[in-house]
Amino acid sequence: MQPERKLPATAIIREVGLRDGLQSIARILPSAQKIEWIRAAHAAGQREIEVGSFVPARLLPQLADTAELVAYARTLPDLFVSVLVPNLKGAERAIESGAHLMTVPLSASHAHSLANLRRAPDEVVADVARMRAAIDAAGSSILLEGGISTAFGCTLQGEVPHDEVVRLVRCLLDAGVDRISLADTVGYADPLAVERLFTKVRAVAGDKLWCGHFHDTRGLGLANVLAALQTGVNRFDACLAGIGGCPHAPGASGNVSSEDLAFMLRSMGIDTGIDIDALLALRRQVADWLDGETLHGTLWRAGLPKCMSPAQPEAVAV
Ligand code: ZN
Repeated sequence: MQPERKLPATAIIREVGLRDGLQSIARILPSAQKIEWIRAAHAAGQREIEVGSFVPARLLPQLADTAELVAYARTLPDLFVSVLVPNLKGAERAIESGAHLMTVPLSASHAHSLANLRRAPDEVVADVARMRAAIDAAGSSILLEGGISTAFGCTLQGEVPHDEVVRLVRCLLDAGVDRISLADTVGYADPLAVERLFTKVRAVAGDKLWCGHFHDTRGLGLANVLAALQTGVNRFDACLAGIGGCPHAPGASGNVSSEDLAFMLRSMGIDTGIDIDALLALRRQVADWLDGETLHGTLWRAGLPKCMSPAQPEAVAV
């Protein structure tokens, strides 16, 4: 018999619905609703939230209020606030905003990189070095994460070789990133590929490899999370109600849904600190705000199993 795989005792679900989710939905959610989303997610126990992206408002008007959201999120105790930045200008705004972390997306697919960021991967690496210099010059403590997207393949280019991903990880580390994450932007990954690539990148990045980002395009999102967990990663991006996709990756559906992931981890005895019933209540609220949009996820249909329902009150001593 195989020995039981060692799994982490705790895991973090980083909520990216306000960025990855909302950026691919045309309607603009009012800032007041986003603030309520952040407040309720924090109240439900979520402790890491990517609140938006510092992209020009003309490109993504849905995310134009990112600075305001960072300012609000920073008022919530023990909340780790992150943002996405596509370039140096965005990084400068992130430094000013007071966010705790900024993620720079770097597409391992040359074709996707040109479509998404209008730059080749190595040009993005050069930008990352400039961002590092800007952070240091500002004396800022903001963490810099290199997020490698299309790490498992791409709708435009097809296969993305593992060697190319590992090469880019080395380049990003040389350019001064503090953290590395790997993203399956379009749902090409499978659990075996995840295990192989995360293991290879771990060998290069060590503990700086800290997050997996899986879209559920072909239904393997949670299986891929499990495969990454088994390599020692315990932080995962997820979107409430699985909203989102990728404007430059046709057919891509959203991230794994936060509530389904929280349920899977809790079922396995891995602590996320999340009150799943509270998260399901927030899902209902967000579904109401996004009425008419395509939502994903499964747990909301049947709810939690009885054995996991809200903690039964302790018997009152008399
Ligand atoms: Zn994504």
